[in-house]
Amino acid sequence: MALALAAAILQLTLACAPAAPHMRAELVLGTLCKLSLYGRDRPETAAAVFERLRIIEARMSANLDDSEVSRVSRSAGIAPQTVSEDTFYVIKTAKEFAELTDGAFDPTIAPLVRLWGIGTENARLPSEEEIEAARRLVDYRGLILDPAARSVFLERAGMGLDLGAIAKGYAADEAASILRAAGVESAIIDLGGNVYTLGRKRGGKPFRIGIQDPAAERGSYLGALTITDRSLVTSGPYERFFIEGGRRYHHILDRRTGYPSDSGLVSVTIIGASSIRADALSTSVFVMGKERGLALLAGQAGVSAILVDESGAISLSGPESSSFELLDMKKYHLE
Ligand code: FAD
Ligand code: MG
Repeated sequence: MALALAAAILQLTLACAPAAPHMRAELVLGTLCKLSLYGRDRPETAAAVFERLRIIEARMSANLDDSEVSRVSRSAGIAPQTVSEDTFYVIKTAKEFAELTDGAFDPTIAPLVRLWGIGTENARLPSEEEIEAARRLVDYRGLILDPAARSVFLERAGMGLDLGAIAKGYAADEAASILRAAGVESAIIDLGGNVYTLGRKRGGKPFRIGIQDPAAERGSYLGALTITDRSLVTSGPYERFFIEGGRRYHHILDRRTGYPSDSGLVSVTIIGASSIRADALSTSVFVMGKERGLALLAGQAGVSAILVDESGAISLSGPESSSFELLDMKKYHLE
């Protein structure tokens, strides 16, 4: 009897405890990608997601010599290159954002990315002459797309393509659509700074996602948001950088100066149904700064944002920012 009672209590406890997710994590897209599936374990679905991420990486990485992106860069000033539908779509979207932001977001930023080498073992502070020479090669207007031939051409020799600020967003959208097609109702896809929540937690509550404190170690959150079926993408200067002469040089570059962007923002989080848009916008707003960034966001339907500036002031934009909870009230304040 006592045993039966104990078993019943144990069963009740298990039923009430939040089910642990089925996790799978792999290094892909240059970052640790984590998939958490709630409910039933579906190893074949998780495998399909990672297989898709690897295909996207193989096509769009600027770090792999045989990717489509590298082929386009090598053929700059020589000949247009036909690419997969995937890659064409991401490049086309990148060019649209470059036009929308007047080049604050620019997928032809590669010559500057290579020169600075931030995030690689070759990171260094280049000379003014080197920066000027690389800067002159960055111009999205020289990125020519032919939809009929599905071809991509960089007009001048020395130009290059870099989809690092947008391809993870596309990858998150693709992962979410694989999960939806497989009937997964509840999951979190985390592609390093690029999170997608599918459905709700057990019990129907929305997921609560923390926003990294840009001035503290990884895993310290300045605030949190509750979101359902949304992507949340953060751009910041705190993950990839080097310090020289007491100055910090980070990986989001401003083609107008050739230097890391110095817009006064230290973190930009975008929330939206489309992760590719959220990814492009997080980098765009980071470079544009608070005022121009908020003006850009005001014209983007269905997109919300949380902007943090270097004084600790937080600006909210869009309907979904209303669920934002400020966790660190000492360092940060809402405007
Ligand atoms: P975001 O703000 O979204 O993007 C910043 C990145 O975009 C920069 O790192 C740069 O690449 C580019 N960029 C900089 N300034 C601009 C600008 N003004 N406009 C447009 N783009 C800009 N990392 C590795 O270390 N090794 C790898 O092998 C590797 N492979 C990758 C393959 C793929 C397909 C992708 C998508 C990424 C890969 N990465 C790799 C990671 C890549 O460097 C990240 O995308 C990068 O860290 C930026 O992600 P983010 O979310 O931090 O910042
Ligand atoms: Mg981005």
